[in-house]
Amino acid sequence: MTERPAPDLRADGHAAIDWAAGYLERVGELPVLAQVAPGEIRARLPAHPPEDPEPFSAVLRDIDEIIVPGTTHWQHPRYFAYFAAASAPPAILGELIAATLNSVAILWRTAPASTELEGLVADWVAELIGLPAGWHGHIEDSASTSTLAAAIAARRATGRSQLVCSEQAHSSVAKAGQMLEMGVRTIPVDDAFRLDPAALGDLSDAAMVVATVGTTASTSVDPVPVIAEACERAGAWLHVDAAYAGSAMVCPELRGAFAGVERADSLVLNPHKWMLVPNDCSLLYSRRPDDLRAAFSLVPEYLRTPDAEDALSLSEYGPALGRRFRSLKLWAVLRCYGRSGLQAHIRSGMALAQRFEALVEGEAGWELCAPRPFSVVCFRAPGDDGRNAELLRRVNETGEIFISHAVLGGRYVLRLAVGGMFTGEGDIDRAWDVLRAVESEL
Ligand code: PLP
Repeated sequence: MTERPAPDLRADGHAAIDWAAGYLERVGELPVLAQVAPGEIRARLPAHPPEDPEPFSAVLRDIDEIIVPGTTHWQHPRYFAYFAAASAPPAILGELIAATLNSVAILWRTAPASTELEGLVADWVAELIGLPAGWHGHIEDSASTSTLAAAIAARRATGRSQLVCSEQAHSSVAKAGQMLEMGVRTIPVDDAFRLDPAALGDLSDAAMVVATVGTTASTSVDPVPVIAEACERAGAWLHVDAAYAGSAMVCPELRGAFAGVERADSLVLNPHKWMLVPNDCSLLYSRRPDDLRAAFSLVPEYLRTPDAEDALSLSEYGPALGRRFRSLKLWAVLRCYGRSGLQAHIRSGMALAQRFEALVEGEAGWELCAPRPFSVVCFRAPGDDGRNAELLRRVNETGEIFISHAVLGGRYVLRLAVGGMFTGEGDIDRAWDVLRAVESEL
């Protein structure tokens, strides 16, 4: 075997941090959507692992030459697809430290700091967003897992096996139903894409009703107070999916959209969507932690410890046993931004979305397709569905912007979602220029 010096964390680490800083400085100049065909990246990489160690500098070189060209740049200022997300420098460094510590929180005693910091940051976020005191919060990998966990707890607590949500709810609800073999009943929406409470019907068979604040397609807001009322009457578990929009609760002026969420049995909010934290980081809150624990606690002999009952092991509140130190990056963001910094990020996203909305509204033939409670604009260019789909394809091909689409009320609509940390007014104006230029060539 070729002799190589052991990896030098300090030297390679400096190079990696330089690389990261340089990447963030130039990401806006790269094509936002990866300009590659399926299979192309793999074909450029060796089919077999190296026999002997390579230096880390070789990894960095391949990142530049092969990985970056095969990356769709979520940190790009003109990434506007799905829900735009941002990974802020304190969180990037938090991930580095978390990997360095490599705490595996299977039990409190294997990771006391990770376990207790997770509880603390969940409480901090709860306070920042105005949730009632005393709710249990912990971090799951994704809103899909959080909603799945809530459904499992709800099924056990109610003894029922029906999930109920609007037809605009995220597909993770249907997926939970599929995985758990629970029925899923979808309720129609009104003309603003909100669950129509008059269509809720008899909920006596419902284990869990999911109300969404910030639906995936249009960010519509279900009428939570009315749904909460119906759930309380029927003894159904109310889960609020605020995966994207929940971060906006940090701004008092946006709290109105969240009226009634304090009556939920559980709520999910993804800091990895609009709170500057990289994937993965999903906060699952519940005011019924005992029901979560009853559903998930299974402590085999080898994990029994003499620790006191208050030495909580968060693995007893969700599906995973080994849990990584996700709270570190969230803690770093909360400390380095503070309430005011988080509010500034949300308000900037709101203002930029409003700017784009005004541009669309002012242009003859273009159309706004849904109310805009948060930072996503749903719109259409003149012409039919096919013309709009072609416009989407062509604007994304330019590499200048990346937007996505949805179907609302049976119509194909374009979506521009603001959420990046580098996005400014110039990027919104550029997006609009690109859209109009490409549209005029159709
Ligand atoms: N809920 C809503 C409203 C979403 O928009 C999404 C994803 O965009 C999810 C849940 C699923 O989130 P995750 O990717 O964390 O599973």
